[in-house]
Amino acid sequence: MLTVVRVSKAFVARPVLQDITFTVERGETVCLLGPSGGGKSTLLRIIAGLLLPDAGQILWQGEDITLVPPHARRFGLMFQDYALFPHMDVWDNVAFGLRMLGLPRSEIERRVRDALERVNLLDFAHRRVTDLSGGEQQRVALARTLAPRPRLLMLDEPLGSLDRVLRERLLEDLRHILREDDTPAIYVTHDQEEAFAIADRVLLLKEGRIVQQGTPEAVYTRPATPWVAQFLGLRNLLPGRVTGLDPLRVITDEGPFTLPECSRPLRVGDAVTLILRPTAARLPGPTPQGGNILQGRVVDLVFGGDDYRVELETKAGRTFEFRMPLALPVGTQVTLALDGERIGCIPHGEGEDVK
Ligand code: ADP
Ligand code: MG
Repeated sequence: MLTVVRVSKAFVARPVLQDITFTVERGETVCLLGPSGGGKSTLLRIIAGLLLPDAGQILWQGEDITLVPPHARRFGLMFQDYALFPHMDVWDNVAFGLRMLGLPRSEIERRVRDALERVNLLDFAHRRVTDLSGGEQQRVALARTLAPRPRLLMLDEPLGSLDRVLRERLLEDLRHILREDDTPAIYVTHDQEEAFAIADRVLLLKEGRIVQQGTPEAVYTRPATPWVAQFLGLRNLLPGRVTGLDPLRVITDEGPFTLPECSRPLRVGDAVTLILRPTAARLPGPTPQGGNILQGRVVDLVFGGDDYRVELETKAGRTFEFRMPLALPVGTQVTLALDGERIGCIPHGEGEDVK
């Protein structure tokens, strides 16, 4: 439905978006995920028509709408800092945009009721918005965005200002609202968990470029670069070099590792980064042999409910964190055996960042 074609944008000669191309299909929720300053809000503003790209096009069902003014696009954008009208009640906040569209009174009534129902706020219709909690205000902002029935829904860090409990609850509601609706949506966040909960597809945006896109499962199991892995919270990265294929053998500063396969073709001598997944570590039997071993000192231990988070520092000075079923006391020297099935491998492309 929506196609973004090779969009670029610079502010004062500094590139903020570079050659962005992607699509959003009917019923699909695409998450733009990336650190602050990566260009996410700028991209939304371009799609909404609030900002012109320097190059590239925005297509809606194949038609070029790059120069179509914002209101004629009939897209809904909920800003990071939603601004409700403080002197109006909930109902009037949601109705405001519909009145601006000049819809008949009965239609406005129907749509406001419908939108408030969807965000579970019908009982609050005649409260002043200043008497609502942060989470409730966020719902009003969402109802206001939904009420005109936009053809495309865009949400810019919609949970950004809420505390953890409210975030989780509203995230769950948003997930249902987006799921039960055919409207394509773009959801912007810097939070990986939020993106994974909401997205059919994730686009990772770093410094104005898409570095990877795919389903949450695909990007998490096969990060394209070490940066992506780290951004998704996979911090146990270990550079190495391929010494054998099938099974894949990799030599590192911490010793040799063997893993079943890599997602992309490799040759002996290639530089790679191994991802040691947090659940990969076990305490080995008395005489561990044949690689996939990490030795080091426990430098931190955190009780994590169902397991412990054990931080290990190796002789080479690297730290790794694993989730383990038992408490390994701080200060002890340990040898951990790693399950090869839980070691991932990222081949290094040209000019990629290597830790
Ligand atoms: P994100 O939403 O991912 O945090 P933004 O799109 O807001 O990123 O910003 C990307 C970069 O563009 C930032 O470095 C920001 O300072 C810059 N930027 C955004 N808007 C403007 C503007 N109107 N003029 C100049 N620089 C801007
Ligand atoms: Mg932003």
